[in-house]
Amino acid sequence: INKIALLTSGGDAPGLNACIRAVVRASIFHNIKVVGIRRGYEGLIDGDFFEMDSATVSNIIQRGGTIQKSSRSPRFKTSDGRESAYQQLKKEGIDAVVLIGGDGSFAGSKAFTSTYNIPWIGIPKTIDNDLTGTDSAIGFDTATNTAMEAIDKIRDTAESHNRIFFVEVMGRDAGFIAYETGINVGAEAICIPETENDVQHLFTVLEKGWGRKKSSLIVVVGEGNEAGGAFKISNDVKEKFPQYDVTVCILGYIQRGGSPSCSDRVLASKLGVAAIHALLNGEKNIMVGEIKGDIVYTPLEIVTKRYLEIDLARIELINILST
Ligand code: ATP
Repeated sequence: INKIALLTSGGDAPGLNACIRAVVRASIFHNIKVVGIRRGYEGLIDGDFFEMDSATVSNIIQRGGTIQKSSRSPRFKTSDGRESAYQQLKKEGIDAVVLIGGDGSFAGSKAFTSTYNIPWIGIPKTIDNDLTGTDSAIGFDTATNTAMEAIDKIRDTAESHNRIFFVEVMGRDAGFIAYETGINVGAEAICIPETENDVQHLFTVLEKGWGRKKSSLIVVVGEGNEAGGAFKISNDVKEKFPQYDVTVCILGYIQRGGSPSCSDRVLASKLGVAAIHALLNGEKNIMVGEIKGDIVYTPLEIVTKRYLEIDLARIELINILST
């Protein structure tokens, strides 16, 4: 392997730059040239390439976003789009591709590698953390910390006015952010997309007059709940319990931005180096992840979306903490 191409694809997440830096530095360390691709699959199809060296990635480990830019690319979903991408890689003399992406990006990688023979290594990033093959994806820890800091501030105002606050966090139809944020802010209730009876449980809690015992109540709501988002659930509560002062806050895109946390910087650095080691070990068409502290290779073929497992221990933890 003499020359690799590196791209970031799909939704952005804090820690992408730390990972870019690690891939570039590990490549240079092992005498491999790195070509950066701008704008994800869009830039790959257009041949929007640039040379990367050690200086290109100086002073970026702490920055949110991605210096390479990202995109969603309808063209890469077509075989013509992927053929153009292949031609661009061939023209540039690329021996392997490293892609930092999420579930959709890996579906694209699978489609590409099933036709073309260029070794491909995926690195998992998604604030939603909804990928198999790694305990944590790059960006998840920072997003959860951002939600925690925001809700700590909301708690102050909720306390001052005896309010119920419904705070909606990201995660799409997976509840990882909602669950961990619910625990780390000491939420009185959590509505996670994976469980059906959270809203019913919330009603029971309010019927018992919990609101009278406490001066504020925080309910963390995952955005992908079947019962609806924070606005819908809060309206249901208002109808049933007009005595409570109810407020909604949607945290939204602040969860994607900002400087990556310590854990995300370390994870991004480890996985970036692991991707290059995987290539040097002759691996291809895999995703590198970290499970229980060990680097694990998962074939792209079987990388898939995952959901939060709702087991007895999790339910008990929530029940105990909200007593
Ligand atoms: P996140 O989940 O964090 O937003 P992601 O990487 O999953 O990030 P997506 O927008 O789902 O982001 O996917 C990124 C790109 O991957 C898409 O814009 C498209 O170009 C490509 N892609 C997704 N699914 C497929 C597919 N089935 N075949 C080919 N390409 C695909």
